[in-house]
Amino acid sequence: MDSLIRRAVDDLAASEYAIALTGAGMSTESGIPDFRGPSGIWTTNRKAEAQAYRRYELFLNDARTYWEEMLGMRGTCGMFYEEIEKAAPNAGHHALAELEALGVLKCVITQNIDGLHRKAGSKRVLEYHGSVHALRCISCRSRHARDDVCLDVLPPRCICGAALKYDVVHFNEAIPSDVMKESEAEVLRCDLMIICGTSAVVHPFASLPGLARSRPYRSLPNSGIPGHEKGVTIIEVNDEPTPLTHGGVSDCFIRGKTGDLLPAIVEEAKRARSALATEHDPLLRD
Ligand code: NAD
Repeated sequence: MDSLIRRAVDDLAASEYAIALTGAGMSTESGIPDFRGPSGIWTTNRKAEAQAYRRYELFLNDARTYWEEMLGMRGTCGMFYEEIEKAAPNAGHHALAELEALGVLKCVITQNIDGLHRKAGSKRVLEYHGSVHALRCISCRSRHARDDVCLDVLPPRCICGAALKYDVVHFNEAIPSDVMKESEAEVLRCDLMIICGTSAVVHPFASLPGLARSRPYRSLPNSGIPGHEKGVTIIEVNDEPTPLTHGGVSDCFIRGKTGDLLPAIVEEAKRARSALATEHDPLLRD
């Protein structure tokens, strides 16, 4: 394990543009259950999975019932959102924020809807599947802070008149084009990707590592896409192997909890930095 952590630190130190991709596993240690892990919501309750798959259609056909479900007046979805409200970032979230503050990590692209990366202090966060802290209009595409919208009358309405939904991207709903474009630009720019706590089965998010691999080695004339000479390094941190591990997409798989492994990576990176500084500063050497 130690050798895998050292390898990750060496790769991060050698990278010019490292980004993180994260999933529900990042937040299980904050008390928010994932969907498909061994004690995930869907692993233990198949009905909840079926409801989630029809939620977007429900919004389109009956926005009031959709809101009653989301606010916990019916079904089990409200309980999940309540758990998110109570949660605080864990050591894994703080470690990614620290890597960004150290200048190592440039961006986090997350599937999580819980806002915990931002709460932990990460600055550049792309919420690929939206956020529970915002509402979105699918007609004029505007977003509104959830706390600014009155929910006394359901469904809440946008100033354009259309019904608002949670900003969260439900199954069968397209990823909003702004966040999709920005995420793809980050993926095409990075030379290191650290993928944390995702089962990597939900597309198009799960295709992002493959997109990074598809980046050309040299800039394509007039394409606007920069090439990179050495290819992308993909490190995966997860409790269990995923299709990325089995499919050989990941160069390195570190098995365990993100709340343990990411802080260990940060500590090792800081130790390596200060050893390097000592080596280069004649005043600090014997
Ligand atoms: P998932 O439930 O499909 O998979 C979670 C993965 O993380 C599993 O492979 C599991 O083994 C691993 N894992 C669980 N705890 C871990 C830990 N402490 N350390 C390391 N690995 C751990 O999650 P996903 O791939 O993100 O699925 C996609 C959907 O789930 C997304 O659309 C996301 O919005 C939604 N979701 C979000 C939250 C959240 O915002 N916290 C919670 C549940 C589901």
